[in-house]
Amino acid sequence: MNVDVIWSKVLEQIKSELNSLSYEAWFSETKLHKLDNGKAYIIVPMEIHKKHILNNYSDIVIDSLNSLTGTNYEIYLLSPDEIEEEEEKEKVIENNETPVQINENINNNLNPRYTFYNFIVGNSNKFAQASALSVAENPGLLYNPLFLYGNSGLGKTHLMHAIGNYIVENSNKRVLYVTSEQFRQDFVKANRKDEEGTNFNYVDFFKDKYRNIDVLLIDDIQFLEGASKSQEEFFHTFNSLHNNGKQIIISSDRSPDDLKKLEERLRTRFTWGLQANIYPPELSLKKEILRKKIIANDFEHDIPEEVIEYMANNIGPDVRKLEGAVTRLVAYSTIMGGEKITLDLAIEALKDNISKGIGEKNNIQRIQRIVAEYFQISTEDLRSKKRSANISFPRQIAMYLCRTMTTESFPKIAIEFGGKDHTTVMYSVEKIENEIKINKDLANIIEKLKKDIGVV
Ligand code: ADP
Ligand code: MG
Repeated sequence: MNVDVIWSKVLEQIKSELNSLSYEAWFSETKLHKLDNGKAYIIVPMEIHKKHILNNYSDIVIDSLNSLTGTNYEIYLLSPDEIEEEEEKEKVIENNETPVQINENINNNLNPRYTFYNFIVGNSNKFAQASALSVAENPGLLYNPLFLYGNSGLGKTHLMHAIGNYIVENSNKRVLYVTSEQFRQDFVKANRKDEEGTNFNYVDFFKDKYRNIDVLLIDDIQFLEGASKSQEEFFHTFNSLHNNGKQIIISSDRSPDDLKKLEERLRTRFTWGLQANIYPPELSLKKEILRKKIIANDFEHDIPEEVIEYMANNIGPDVRKLEGAVTRLVAYSTIMGGEKITLDLAIEALKDNISKGIGEKNNIQRIQRIVAEYFQISTEDLRSKKRSANISFPRQIAMYLCRTMTTESFPKIAIEFGGKDHTTVMYSVEKIENEIKINKDLANIIEKLKKDIGVV
């Protein structure tokens, strides 16, 4: 998005919140000059605008700009004269100084498509995004290491590249992004002897690649679990970087505590800095992601809200799957001759993506499906009267989750579980509630299921 587009969207938002007189007076002639290094430079027509906007409207400007870009900008208001002055200064600098060579030719493996601008923020990922951004703004200084974790498809890799891209754009630090698998392969190669029994070139290459950097981003660290030699090498790499104040950012599908097969000394180090968990997106965030991804697909028609609602309700928490569904929906409509997207068309287009959830009318049924999948039984069994332990225990868990995660009443839940008596549901909820307190394994299972279910 260029600054004009960003600003027009911010203005739209502001317009919707102010009366037309105030909007016209204070905002109609404003422009976004540039976004640079966490600062938004806004041009206002006169001095008086500066003071008035700062005193009265800075919150709304900052809020709309930041919610749109997913970044934390500070705002600077400038008059047209000041902009000119500043541009003059920049010219002088450009002419007189040899420009800093930014990131000379090292292959940092960063994917420029993943940035903070296009990372959409909601409650479930707010903390992770904010932690990532503060590390990007202060590499090596604040939280070291930053440890991002969460289930697959929730945006860990995206955030890591966003950090890397931000640092590369705003400094001349050397950044390296690798997966833990790539680290392992490099390490294996470095230790393979050539015909003469040596492998100095590669050892040098390895040291240079991993120690001669300012920022190391290492993705999916859980894959080092089975590789003890690589773990040991990573331990040394970590220490060397950390001791020298270099920033390390790690991602994993689990928290450090749950990386059970990783050496203790590594796990401990992972908790030295800041850990940020990315949770499955809540419904409103899913909808926001869907809307933005549809726009990013250059789809020109409006998509009805009920379609967005349908997709957000029926596609699981994995953002990759949301993206896949958007691509498919847009392609489908194009193939059908650019047809407008209606709910019927969406149901037809997405029937493969949504097959599992199809026909689920409410959250109780969704919880039943997720619990049944976890215990590898059928939802019919879950709703049946069968009393064998392998079925009645998951059923009690499902009832407990329905009661604690939705606002449904005991009788309503009882109906959805095959028309049982509502006291059965009450009993189950109480039983699980008590058992969680004394049974750590059960508590973990419930936590895992809650994560899979997401916010209902
Ligand atoms: P993970 O590494 O956690 O498995 P990824 O970072 O690969 O997940 O994300 C999967 C896909 O979803 C990527 O294409 C990513 O851009 C997208 N994505 C995830 N979260 C968001 C978000 N909050 N805003 C925009 N895109 C997102
Ligand atoms: Mg990933």
